[in-house]
Amino acid sequence: MSRGVSAACAYPTQLALVHEMRTDVFELQLPFGATREQALALAAGLREALAEKLGAEAREIGLATGLSNGMAGQGTLSAFLYDKAAGGAGLVTRLAEFEWFRACLERAIGWLDCGETCDHGCPACILRPDMNFGGEFPDRPGAHELAQRIFARLKLPAELQVFGAETRLVGQPLSEWLERQRLSGKLRALTLYLHASPVDWELPEWTIVDFFKRAHEMGIRATLVVGAGTLTDKRFEMAQKLDLYRICAHASLATMEALPTVAGVPLLGFVEIGSDFMGIAAPDTPDIRPGPNWGPIRFPVSSR
Ligand SMILES: [Zn+2]
Repeated sequence: MSRGVSAACAYPTQLALVHEMRTDVFELQLPFGATREQALALAAGLREALAEKLGAEAREIGLATGLSNGMAGQGTLSAFLYDKAAGGAGLVTRLAEFEWFRACLERAIGWLDCGETCDHGCPACILRPDMNFGGEFPDRPGAHELAQRIFARLKLPAELQVFGAETRLVGQPLSEWLERQRLSGKLRALTLYLHASPVDWELPEWTIVDFFKRAHEMGIRATLVVGAGTLTDKRFEMAQKLDLYRICAHASLATMEALPTVAGVPLLGFVEIGSDFMGIAAPDTPDIRPGPNWGPIRFPVSSR
């Protein structure tokens, strides 16, 4: 993520842990300057919050810290939470959903605000028997401060609240988010607008292509909308047209005189989830081009 939320890049991922077990892992990349001790205590606070929200046992969730690469390839420190059950139990993956992450972080701030004013975590707050990391002791007050700092950055700036106060960050690449909605079985239909000039499209690399095929198999209605001028644009090459028609094997194609914007921000599409309609917009130009970077973490914003 960038701008106001650069502190919290959240990736659901599958990692092989030291003893070759495969499970679900949640990674939280921390702001520059954060320490391992803070990361450990923050992960522990998130664990308490997540277990509480899920009605699960904290001991089902493991913690780790480690070095990782940020969006720009820079080295960053990360806090990891993982499901201790082999193969994953679907616990930590919930943190990849922005609203879950925000709610858990807010609650973690409460867990880290220890009434005993301990230094390294205590049984009254975040300390658990598995938190033995050799010479590293959790920095409970430092993590409390860090959690508050990250939480403050999660607030969407007013100029990005294009759907009003209900505007939310999708908080993960849009294609991944859509895939989660598909897997939930609640996604009924989606309409996507192909913004920008076809010269800038990279349809073969567009991460949504396989998604359309899977969605089609589930009976999800998908529509692609292009600007009316696009199909007759001389720069729209035959190879691109073929790519587009290939995608449309699993989606309807429609044209519109001018593609929609909301509060001056390009609308990427609409989705119908259960009985809800949600709009998705992306203020940053690179994010709106169909291609490998389409609708990334940055600012697709949605509204119910
Ligand atoms: Zn304590």
